[in-house]
Amino acid sequence: MRLDELPPRENFNDWYNEIVEKAGLTDKRYPIKGMNVWTPYGWKIMQAIDSLIRREFDSTGHDEVNFPTLIPETEFAKEAEHIKGFGKDVYWVTHAGENELDVPLLLRPTSETAMYPMFSLWIRSHSDLPMKIYQIVSTFRYETKQTRAFIRVREIHFFESHTAHRDFEDAEAQIKEDLDILGRLMKNLCLPYMIHRRPDWDKFAGAYYSLGIDTFMEGKILQIGSIHQYRNNFAIPYEIKYEDERGEHHYVHQTTFGMSERLLGAIIGIHGDKHGLILPPAIAPYQVVIVPIPKKGHQEKVYEECGKVGEKLKSAGFRVHIDDRDLRPGNKYYYWEIRGVPVRLEMGLRDIEKGEVVLFRRDEMKKKSVKIENLNEEVVSLLADIERNLYERAERKMQGRIVEADELSDLDMYSAPDILQVKWCGEEACGIRMEEITGMSVLGTSEPEEKAEGECPICGKNAVKYVYLAKTY
Ligand code: ZN
Repeated sequence: MRLDELPPRENFNDWYNEIVEKAGLTDKRYPIKGMNVWTPYGWKIMQAIDSLIRREFDSTGHDEVNFPTLIPETEFAKEAEHIKGFGKDVYWVTHAGENELDVPLLLRPTSETAMYPMFSLWIRSHSDLPMKIYQIVSTFRYETKQTRAFIRVREIHFFESHTAHRDFEDAEAQIKEDLDILGRLMKNLCLPYMIHRRPDWDKFAGAYYSLGIDTFMEGKILQIGSIHQYRNNFAIPYEIKYEDERGEHHYVHQTTFGMSERLLGAIIGIHGDKHGLILPPAIAPYQVVIVPIPKKGHQEKVYEECGKVGEKLKSAGFRVHIDDRDLRPGNKYYYWEIRGVPVRLEMGLRDIEKGEVVLFRRDEMKKKSVKIENLNEEVVSLLADIERNLYERAERKMQGRIVEADELSDLDMYSAPDILQVKWCGEEACGIRMEEITGMSVLGTSEPEEKAEGECPICGKNAVKYVYLAKTY
């Protein structure tokens, strides 16, 4: 066994915990649990994810901002539901130097209470609306459950957009735009997803309703983002009002959209295999790594030709790296496979003589020879095919684990009961009972809602819609 071999993928937790370090994403040895060091390769990937997010939000009229990390307790306490929901998860700053602070400060667990006092100063008139801003910052939550890199952390690499609108309908239109943005992003990240309207007992603290963005990883649902409709629930305590055309004053309606490095956690866990990571081409720091296959007496020629091919690909806009380290090609293969580089380009003397290179695709672990003169087009289509393949095979896997269940007490009767679709009367008590019987969590109803006909399996009354249940991270 090689010293640096990965645990088998079947031992998912061990495999995941090993791969995040062996692929160079993070170093978990930092002396605070759940606050991991981002190492260069991992940070490059996260920055690429952030760039995709920025591109989407900039092009839909959002402006990037950056708010302070610290929030005074007095502002945090204004929205009663919100503080109830987050109070236990907060890190407090109670001292400055040797002095105890009159008003304790907290590290933002999310930024509503930092931003909305400013919104009430910025928004005056209907012409200030809609206001659409976002930021990508660290947020902090005191997790008491077992932490795991990118999945459950205490310092979160967080994206959050916040919007303010003149009425409920305009805020609803924003949520539609958010869902369009999400669709484009998830294609690039090769992440299939489902939208669930969370049940009232599980919505975001202070929200009118919450949409969970759920993906499926190793038998469980991983929430990778959320979109919230606040209505005017925050506008009232924070006094965010505007004057309309007739001089009347109204509270704004607000929405938020949040995502985090869980996107990366999902990419690792959903696509990775026994050889390591598999990165979607859109976020791979290197889309193509060139490995020269030197032959005694012809090293220079091989390196020179590899350099030319590298330049050709770079000038076509690909992210390319030439691995010219003094290592055996096999070691380089292994090194880049574990790091998930989508395409490896191998080039030896015989290839050069034929005017060819070998392209290896990481998702299928397959090679083919292509003519150098067609290289750019070949790489374009190969990367597009990898993106499509990763998305579709993960989508098939997720869809294959959904079963419609009428009988909840014996799930063994179903072949793949990871995600249950159950007829529901809509009553909270029945939803809670379903959780107790199955040991799963109610994810909510799908968005848009699917009507159901038949009986609620708990109370026997008429079902009105389907509800989904699964184990969650
Ligand atoms: Zn019922």
